[in-house]
Amino acid sequence: MSKKKSNLLSGSNKEPTANPAEVPVTSLSGVGPQMAAKLERLHVHNVQDVLFHLPHRYDDRTSVTEIGALLPNLSTVIIGQVELSQVVFGRRRSLLVRISDGTGSLTIRMFYFSRQQEKGFKRGHWVRCFGEARRGAKGFELIHPEYRVSAEKPEGGFEDTLKPVYPTTEGVSQTLWRKITEQALQDSLPHINELLTQSCLPPHLIDASNTVSLADAIKAIHRPAVGTDIASLRAATSQAHQRLIFEELLAHHFSLKKSRMDRETEIAMPLTLSKQRYADLLEQFGFELTNAQQRVCAEVSANLQLEKPMMRLVQGDVGSGKTVVAAQAILQAAETKVQSVLMAPTELLAEQHYQTLREWFEPLGLEVGWLASKTPAPQKRETLEKLRNGELLIAVGTHALIQESVEYRMLGLVVIDEQHRFGVDQRLALREKTPEGRAAHQLVMTATPIPRTLAMSFYADLDVSSIDELPPGRKTVDTVVIPSETKRQEVIERVRSACQQGRQVYWVCPLIDESEVLNAQAATDTEQELQIQLEGINVGLVHGRLKAAEKEQVMNAFRKAQIQVLVATTVIEVGVDVPNASLMIIENSERMGLAQLHQLRGRVGRGSEKSYCILLYRQPLGQHAKERLKTLRETNDGFVIAEKDLEMRGAGELLGTRQTGSLSFKIADILRDQALLPQIEPCAKLLAEAKPQNIDALIERWVGSREGYVNA
Ligand code: ADP
Ligand code: MG
Repeated sequence: MSKKKSNLLSGSNKEPTANPAEVPVTSLSGVGPQMAAKLERLHVHNVQDVLFHLPHRYDDRTSVTEIGALLPNLSTVIIGQVELSQVVFGRRRSLLVRISDGTGSLTIRMFYFSRQQEKGFKRGHWVRCFGEARRGAKGFELIHPEYRVSAEKPEGGFEDTLKPVYPTTEGVSQTLWRKITEQALQDSLPHINELLTQSCLPPHLIDASNTVSLADAIKAIHRPAVGTDIASLRAATSQAHQRLIFEELLAHHFSLKKSRMDRETEIAMPLTLSKQRYADLLEQFGFELTNAQQRVCAEVSANLQLEKPMMRLVQGDVGSGKTVVAAQAILQAAETKVQSVLMAPTELLAEQHYQTLREWFEPLGLEVGWLASKTPAPQKRETLEKLRNGELLIAVGTHALIQESVEYRMLGLVVIDEQHRFGVDQRLALREKTPEGRAAHQLVMTATPIPRTLAMSFYADLDVSSIDELPPGRKTVDTVVIPSETKRQEVIERVRSACQQGRQVYWVCPLIDESEVLNAQAATDTEQELQIQLEGINVGLVHGRLKAAEKEQVMNAFRKAQIQVLVATTVIEVGVDVPNASLMIIENSERMGLAQLHQLRGRVGRGSEKSYCILLYRQPLGQHAKERLKTLRETNDGFVIAEKDLEMRGAGELLGTRQTGSLSFKIADILRDQALLPQIEPCAKLLAEAKPQNIDALIERWVGSREGYVNA
């Protein structure tokens, strides 16, 4: 506090030599404990954080736009002469000032104004104002612009540099941001640690005459020099941006490497599986493993035999047979008398796994437990008890498996299916369940392939196995896109004819909104409609509101072909496997994501028959929806689809980390900046040789306290 007072008195930071990372924000004038708490929410704790809190856009008050050249929603400076000023009493009393500059005229409109302001707009005087032009009833209007009136015609804009606008939170004004960044730039920036060496920067950032130091880069972004091209700032292509982005990517790279190394020091239970038991399991499968499955099983098995925790991502397209890999790993754990959990994002998918694993494991004398939020209490109690005392070695379920009340005797393996639906927090929670001093092996399965550039940079800490081959006999699914308003009847006829040929059909209902109740209702309506239209054909219904036993009954009837048409909400998205189903209808496909549609479509094309997918949509189709449907029509390749998905949605969401922000960068954008990625690894090596002592500070600066999450 006393430090702050002295700042207030002297108007400057009294600790000129301190590393800004060690100077608390409260040392800045204007920042008291209350303001500090608000800044905290933006992860701004010290003066270095202030320096790294960069503008997300700029107001251009440098250039004057002629009224005749105005565009709607453009924020700009305008200079004009007052023609008319009057107070009008419409729905609201307002002051209207008409100004013109020879190319056109516009109206300034103010709802709050003083008598003095009203008198200030003298006819013939000049007004220089800054604001956002909007179309009004009579040409452009500026509502409450910033303005100055003068008798003489002013020259140029308000300022000769671009004005930074900062991302902020409630109660922290732009004025405050400008004030504290100004202090930080003046007093602390000169003392910021330059952590990179010139030799480790990629060539385009050390273009001889123009090496950008960290300090110069930060300065240039907070306070762009006169004449800076605003487009390069907006696109983050300025040298200054590139310099910072590069440093941030480098920091994330080191952070991943570091946590990978940390993990190497962790100890897990080594798991072993005898040849005989493995052979027993293979027998249960009832099919030959594909080469890809064999390879991945071997990779996983070898990993599990080590004392080092496995951290492996198994990616394989829908239907490539990932469950087999999970089963083998689980058996390996069970044989070592170590507990495993298999966790899936939806109850239906978890149930399917539960059934599958029981089929495979019970003949081997292994019990499989079940845990979901809807499990009846007595049964749940029993399962929990058995998990606590170690009697039960295998449990399948939803996130109920990681709730607080669940304790494990010796949890050694965690298998997570369809990882992109799980948040990082949930993976962290699982970690807490492992015995003291022991980490669990982790196997993560996803049908969403991680594009290579991303995998290299951000799964640098994960080992990745790919099942890049489908079991024999799989066929690509022909996909058509059809408007539902006009062609619904034809589609129903097609369903009838498929059923008459002994095939089965999935009909996926519209996604109304997030409400399970409404979705269930829509599915019920569709089922009734189809039952009337498809006389003599058995139509079944499954949705999220049914009891587990009811769902199971319907699914079993569909499996046994007692039901020909299965009407469903998107609950069947993952896991369900009925090879005789060869036609899939998806309603409102325009509202679903690419990955989801691909998953749904993956339910057909599993048998010997040619399969089809009909994507019904409602007009009008937005640009993105159009692109999504086109992608699906053109390809069956999950990899291509994932790349497209990534391109359209951004990396965070795809990686399932948007909620927790573990991959949220301060300035880099993994998609926009992917051209820099290949240079990260070699430059990191150079830095590690030249200045190994800087690496921790680099991580701390950019990744900071969130570091623990990156790997969770
Ligand atoms: P996904 O990778 O989508 O999770 P699953 O593990 O659910 O795929 O397998 C899809 C279907 O393919 C299941 O019915 C499974 O029994 C079957 N399957 C898996 N591997 C093979 C194989 N090598 N040969 C034949 N069928 C297989
Ligand atoms: Mg699966």
